[in-house]
Amino acid sequence: MNVHDSEQMAQILSDAGYVKTDKADRADVIIVNTCSVREKAAQKAYSQLGRLKKLREKRPGLVIGVAGCLAQEHGAGFFRRAPYLDLVLGTHNIHRLPGIIEEINNAGSRVVDTSFRESVRSLGIRTLPPDGDVSAYVTIMQGCNNFCSYCIVPYVRGREESRASGEIVDEIRFLADNGIREVTLLGQNVNSYGSTLSGDTSFPALLRMIGKIEGIDRIRFTTSHPKDLSEELAVCFADLDNLCEHIHLPVQSGSDHVLKRMKRGYTAGEYLKKIDMLRNACPDITITSDIIVGFPGEKDSDFQKTIDLMKEVRFDNTFSFKYSDRHGTASEGYDGKVEEGVKGERLSELQLLQESHSLEKNRGLEGTVKDVLIEGVSKNNDTDVTGRTRGNKIVNLAGDTGLTGKTVRVRIAQAYVHSLRGEIIQGEKCL
Ligand code: SAH
Ligand code: SF4
Repeated sequence: MNVHDSEQMAQILSDAGYVKTDKADRADVIIVNTCSVREKAAQKAYSQLGRLKKLREKRPGLVIGVAGCLAQEHGAGFFRRAPYLDLVLGTHNIHRLPGIIEEINNAGSRVVDTSFRESVRSLGIRTLPPDGDVSAYVTIMQGCNNFCSYCIVPYVRGREESRASGEIVDEIRFLADNGIREVTLLGQNVNSYGSTLSGDTSFPALLRMIGKIEGIDRIRFTTSHPKDLSEELAVCFADLDNLCEHIHLPVQSGSDHVLKRMKRGYTAGEYLKKIDMLRNACPDITITSDIIVGFPGEKDSDFQKTIDLMKEVRFDNTFSFKYSDRHGTASEGYDGKVEEGVKGERLSELQLLQESHSLEKNRGLEGTVKDVLIEGVSKNNDTDVTGRTRGNKIVNLAGDTGLTGKTVRVRIAQAYVHSLRGEIIQGEKCL
């Protein structure tokens, strides 16, 4: 989501006549887009800002701003921490960026805009990814009404707001006309899409509308909340040719006691039923998840239940995090805080188990033939290209940039923990 916010800011600045540069020391404006969902992400943003201080000393005319969740959280307080900043821009106001920069340049004063708006204008900012990209993000909703007890998102992104389905479909048509083959629909809880739009569509209905757009070969979405995942959505995986067989379904914990304190709204048993429902509708579906270790009150026996759930589901991949207190959330005040050392041990155990499951899942693909959408040259070897299967597995194979944007038939030859190695099946037509 943050990547897409950055793309949107780049787009409105380029519409206002700014030109992108990769060199920070040549820039007139630098905006650091931040995330405050976890402590580690916030620390990264602070060190990035720290590096810009020196640049500011060298070039007094440079405008330096901070945007995103951390900016929303701290507002004017940011100036105490980083007095060399010119701008603190909240999550609802990125559409104002060019005007604010002008104001700073003209008046020479600092600006803070963290006001929340009823309707978030940036939702409608259309972006085209860099030339040659075949994949694009499309925001379908923003904010969240769930208030999971550990989570800062509802406080820094505001309440849930869905975009009208017609607007989303128009944007995806525009992307398809400009060479985009794959879209990823973004929202904190896509399953509740439409709840703020009276008389508009549900999420499965929206998927069916997007499924008909010519030129879009692949549809993905993130994130799905387990409590709102419906049978109607599961059936879409079987029915819609261009809906990719992958779901990211964050479980967070396998212990009912912890899930209750997290205010997630489901039990481990209910989560497992949703997994069965998905696998019944689409047996090969890739399932990934998020897990937090060391939530306040998590005992060894609770953590063991998370391990048991992982062994039962056998996720293709998980993103796992040590719990960190976020200011203003309910769990900040919970008792039973877990020691950092214990969190570290649990995280290592969990990640080791996940690696074995990821490898096991990937090995199951050896010898199979998959459609791979080529995204470009591989990062590790310039005689290789890299792409993804519909199940979102990364595949590296010998090939050149001419394949970018094409879907090729690939035989999977070798499985690794985080990727696959494949070979193009000669004689098969590229799409
Ligand atoms: N909307 C998504 C997740 C958004 S945040 C959902 O409901 O699943 C992304 C992930 O960050 C979460 O799934 C959670 O695993 C992690 N996270 C959020 N707050 C956290 C905290 N305080 N400490 C550690 N991890 C956290
Ligand atoms: Fe945060 Fe929960 Fe909303 Fe996800 S559903 S953004 S974890 S409050």
